[in-house]
Amino acid sequence: MTTAINLHAKASPTFAAKLAETQALLKRAAAEFSPITQASSLGAEDVVITHLINSLKLDIAMFVLNTGMLHKETLQLLARTKQATRAGVTVYEPVAEAVVQFVGREGTTAMYRSVELRKACCHLRKVEPLERALAGKRAWVTGLRRDQSTARAEVPLEDSSDVAAHNRTKFNPLANWTWGDVWHYIKLHNVDYNSLHDHFYPSIGCVPCTRSIALGEDFRSGRWWWENESAKECGLHVKQDNRETA
Ligand code: SF4
Repeated sequence: MTTAINLHAKASPTFAAKLAETQALLKRAAAEFSPITQASSLGAEDVVITHLINSLKLDIAMFVLNTGMLHKETLQLLARTKQATRAGVTVYEPVAEAVVQFVGREGTTAMYRSVELRKACCHLRKVEPLERALAGKRAWVTGLRRDQSTARAEVPLEDSSDVAAHNRTKFNPLANWTWGDVWHYIKLHNVDYNSLHDHFYPSIGCVPCTRSIALGEDFRSGRWWWENESAKECGLHVKQDNRETA
């Protein structure tokens, strides 16, 4: 069987140095930025970070945004992750009344009708729960990588752009990892991962907004594929001045 590991695991020449840098960054973040949390969508990058946090025994609890639209494979991995994660997992869900009102007014396929409606759905299912998840936190850890998309090409390892407004730092410890590095780590440590990755889903989100891609297609081409490239973010990684950066 073709698996994501067979297809993608290939360490870059500088993998060992990048891994050491990532480990040092996570240790420093945990020591100096408490309370700190990991934002996990249970994608390949996130399971690597969770594995690193567990193996380094760091006090970085994880949260997951359950939008109510996740694939069954993602929910299955969430259940397994809750059993295996040392620092704990908190699941945040959208406000039920807001979802009922939105779906009642716009239907279940509103996201395909306009970017505004898609962003409204993302706001109530992801952005608002994210705000609750980050309330009171000094830092968060994400799986953003520079080669995920053009919009992410300049993602820093440590992003202090939100410190002035919210006293919150964002750490992107895999910013300079390649997709091959991610899968090399998963292979090396036998890390549990979302089985959708074995079915050509590199980036996994909600069911209506995620599809499999062909070999060679752009990493993010399976997300919001009906929209222009520049619109393809859900609002989770937007700077305070409203420039979309991730
Ligand atoms: S990704 Fe799609 S289903 Fe999920 S919150 Fe955004 S618009 Fe809604």
